[in-house]
Amino acid sequence: MSQVEQLVILGATGSVGLSTLAVVAEHPQRYQLFALTAYSRVEKAEALCRKFLPRYFVMVDVAAAADLAGRISDLSTEVLAGSDALLAVVQESDVSMVMAAIVGAAGLAPTLAAVEAGKVVLLANKESLVMAGQLFMDAVARNGGQLLPIDSEQNAMFQSLPGFRVGKSLTELGVVRLWLTASGGPFLDRPADSLSEVTPAQACAHPNWDMGRKISVDSATMMNKGLEVIETAWFFGVSGGQIEVLIHPQSIVHSMVEYRDGSILSQLGSADMRIPIAHALAWPERIHSGAASLDLRKVADLQFQPVDNEKFPCLDLAYAALAEGGLAATYLNAANEVVVQAFLDEKIGFLKIATVVDEVLGRLSNGQAQDLDTVVAADAQARRLAETLIDKH
Ligand code: NAD
Ligand code: MG
Repeated sequence: MSQVEQLVILGATGSVGLSTLAVVAEHPQRYQLFALTAYSRVEKAEALCRKFLPRYFVMVDVAAAADLAGRISDLSTEVLAGSDALLAVVQESDVSMVMAAIVGAAGLAPTLAAVEAGKVVLLANKESLVMAGQLFMDAVARNGGQLLPIDSEQNAMFQSLPGFRVGKSLTELGVVRLWLTASGGPFLDRPADSLSEVTPAQACAHPNWDMGRKISVDSATMMNKGLEVIETAWFFGVSGGQIEVLIHPQSIVHSMVEYRDGSILSQLGSADMRIPIAHALAWPERIHSGAASLDLRKVADLQFQPVDNEKFPCLDLAYAALAEGGLAATYLNAANEVVVQAFLDEKIGFLKIATVVDEVLGRLSNGQAQDLDTVVAADAQARRLAETLIDKH
C-alpha cells in the first residue's frame, strides 16, 4: 500500500464531505485528517471533531469558530477562523490530498490554491470548473498535480477512459462521444404546466440521490446537468458537440464513453457517492467503499430516453454559455446560485430560475476570463444583476 495520505476535506459538514468521512473511517491506516472545514454549523463541526480528531478545523464564520473553539477546548484539534484559513491549510506541505466539496463559487479559491500547491485534488465542487474552466485547467497542467473527478458522471467517464490524463486529447484515445446520463430529477414525469407551483421541499426530494439543497434544486431544473456539461468539457478537453445528455431515471449507468470502433464503456453502481469518492481516494488502487453492491437481477429494467429541452431550458442555457466561452459560464453559474437561493427562500417560483438566468446572460456583455480577478468581478456583476431582476419579478 502507498503512503498514509494527509487529507483536507473542504466542506466536511456537507453531503459529499460526510460521505468522504464515511469512507475514510473505514481506512484509518490509510488516511489521516489534516483538516476539516465548514462554513458555520457548530454542532455538526463539534461532533466531527470529537469523532475524527482532525489536526485543524477551519470555520469560515468567525463567530462560529470562536464558539467551536470554546466547545472543543478539551481536544487537541486547533480551530482556525475565516476564509483565508482555507487557503492556508490546503497549502500546508504535510497535506497530500484535498477533497474539494464546498458548494458553489465559494469553493473556487481554496480549490485553486490546492491545485497550485500541487496536491492531489478530488473535485466535487463542479462550480469552480464552470466559472473558471480555462484558468483552472491551466493551473492543473502547470502544477502537475492530479485532478480526479468526484461527480459520479465524470468519475464514471474517467473510469471508462483508461489511459486518460489531463491534457491528453480524447481523439488520441479514439473517443467520439461522451454520454452524460441524467436521472431527470424529481419532476421528470410531472407535467410542464404544473412546474410553476412546485415548492422547495418538492424540488429537494430527489428520487435517487440524497444531496445538499443547492445541487438538489439544480437537479430539479436540470441546471445540474448543464453545469456537468461544462464541467465535462473542461475536465476532458472536449467541445459541447461531443457531449450528449441522456435521461436514465434509475441512476445506475453513471455515464458512458463511446469509441470510434462502436464500443461503449461505462461504469455502473448503486447511487451512492461513496463509490466515486472511494475510487478517487485510492486511485489507481481500489478500496472498500461501504456502498451496497449492485444486483442487476433486482434492478431488472434500465431505461434511457432523450431530454425534453423545452421543459428543462436550463440545459440549453448551459450549452449556449459553453459555446460562447469567455465569461458566459461565469455569469451562468453566478446567476444560477442567486436564483436558486431565492427559490429556496420562497422569493420566486421554480420557473423563474431559468428565466432570470437567461435574462442575466442576455444583458451582460461577454469578455475574456484572463485572470482570477476578472472572473471574481464577473461573478459579482452577475450576482448583482440577478438580485435586481429577482426584485422585479
Ligand atoms: P452541501 O450543501 O451538503 O455542503 C456544502 C459544504 O460547503 C458544507 O460543508 C458547508 O459548510 C460548506 N460551505 C457552504 N458555503 C460555504 C462558504 N461560503 N465557504 C466555505 N464553505 C462553505 O453540498 P453538497 O451536496 O455536499 O455539494 C458539495 C459540492 O459537491 C457541490 O459543488 C455539488 O455540486 C457537488 N456534488 C455533490 C454531490 C452530492 O451527492 N451531494 C454529487 C456530485 C457533486
Ligand atoms: Mg453528478
